[in-house]
Amino acid sequence: MTVPDPALVVLIGASGSGKSTWAAARYREPEIVSSDALRGVVGSGAHDLSASADAFALLEQIVSARIRRGLTTVVDTLGTDAERRRSWLAQARAAGLPAAALIFDVDPVECRRRNRDRDRPVPATALDAQLRRMRDVPAALAAEGWDLVLDVAADVQAEPADTPGAAQTPHTPGAAQTPHTPGAAQAADTPGTQAAQRDRPARLGVVLQISRFPWGDDPAGWLTSIAAAAADAGFEGLALMDHLIQIPQVGRAWEPIPEPLVTLGLIAGVTTRLRLGTLVTPVTFRAPGIVAKSLATLDALSGGRAFCGIGAGWWAREHAAFGLPLPRAAERLDQLEHAIETIRALWAPGTKPAAGLPETTCYPRPVSQIPIIVGGSGARTLRIAARLADACNLPSDLETLDHLLAGLRQQCADAGREIAVTVLDVPIVGRDREHVAALVEKLRGRTPAAAFARRHHAGTAAEHLARYRLLAERGVSTVFVALPDLAGPDDVLRLAPVVAGFAETGCA
Ligand code: GDP
Ligand code: MG
Repeated sequence: MTVPDPALVVLIGASGSGKSTWAAARYREPEIVSSDALRGVVGSGAHDLSASADAFALLEQIVSARIRRGLTTVVDTLGTDAERRRSWLAQARAAGLPAAALIFDVDPVECRRRNRDRDRPVPATALDAQLRRMRDVPAALAAEGWDLVLDVAADVQAEPADTPGAAQTPHTPGAAQTPHTPGAAQAADTPGTQAAQRDRPARLGVVLQISRFPWGDDPAGWLTSIAAAAADAGFEGLALMDHLIQIPQVGRAWEPIPEPLVTLGLIAGVTTRLRLGTLVTPVTFRAPGIVAKSLATLDALSGGRAFCGIGAGWWAREHAAFGLPLPRAAERLDQLEHAIETIRALWAPGTKPAAGLPETTCYPRPVSQIPIIVGGSGARTLRIAARLADACNLPSDLETLDHLLAGLRQQCADAGREIAVTVLDVPIVGRDREHVAALVEKLRGRTPAAAFARRHHAGTAAEHLARYRLLAERGVSTVFVALPDLAGPDDVLRLAPVVAGFAETGCA
């Protein structure tokens, strides 16, 4: 079973039942709020009972402050005080944080044995009283309405999800014991998913999207090293953003953002296997015939590795700054439709008139069937993709994706065509829980840590693998992965375990 993250996690068990040991092995130190540790802070040590009142006052303050910020909070006390439990639960509800109660119902004989072996055992009579109080706990918890109640001794595999939000429990009062939506539980069940991926491999192409270019004073060297790392890590391809000014979602306006088709020409020359294209080229930047010409050239020069991401364009600032008109949305979507028809006509064999052109003389012809991937999620964009494209690129967030997929499938049915589905994902990938938290803290700007972590599915490679498997199960053929903290080739290699988890498929 997976404990949601972020969450309020209340540990409940007699002394010696293993609460602190369990928490320390799974959570970061600041996430665990322990009455023993706080006795040591305001008193002479963990066993200084004279410091209990002060320690608990501090504990309540820390728990409240963390819950209010939506941060994972593991409360390590005996947990048998129902009034305190209800107060923590109410605070978690108010903050929209899932609340889990974890019972450490260890055999009393074993508990007494472990207690006796300690440096400062709890008096036997006190432990007996604690163990007696434990008997009433399960019934009390059921009445309190926790999102999740787990018996850690029985459910030996209780593990926290490291991908915040991956196993978000619904806040239905009384939903204890059946907290997970099936998808979420699976996403967080990483050991199970890794085994499943081994036994029943889902197929998914993984393409590195480069959106930021911190190349110092060696642009070509940096790009070459990133491309080499992507090839080493097993990525299927490399996609570049197509913007004239760095977009605020990614970086500052004065950071470099190279013209992608020129840049892909360089990368084509230093790689032999990676598929190459843009995600996505706005139709407002170049006349469609020029897009066709550039990509046909890229395809010929790269031995048939080009793909064509295309969209309606959206950012007013870059258009104004480069003297390009940005017509209103309906007109841009007309342009998108027209562009795909023009591009296809220029790539097709023969030179006869087509798509309103007097001739279609475009040499070199592409050497492959260059896939056209339409980016965007408006209703008309989906219809254009269904009618004319080879693939549609959608957001990776499962809820949004499921909604858009339903619309796209309907459009495809209406058009009597099938197209591939690709997604763009912007994950934060850490080595372990500590590293994930450090990356979130470094990158979050002014966004609260929990919200930032959820938006970027901050987690370990194993957890991203599990999440991508869910994408593959939904029929997604390719995931474009953009790293928000891409600095150099080592960052690309952090994704190698994710990429290695999937068999190769065709791009789009
Ligand atoms: P707490 O009082 O519930 O926080 O219990 P602790 O986590 O401090 O553990 C009490 C003692 O039991 C320590 O000496 C631990 O090393 C030991 N212990 C904890 N978990 C386990 C376990 O799963 N198995 C065994 N055999 N010992 C454990
Ligand atoms: Mg303890």
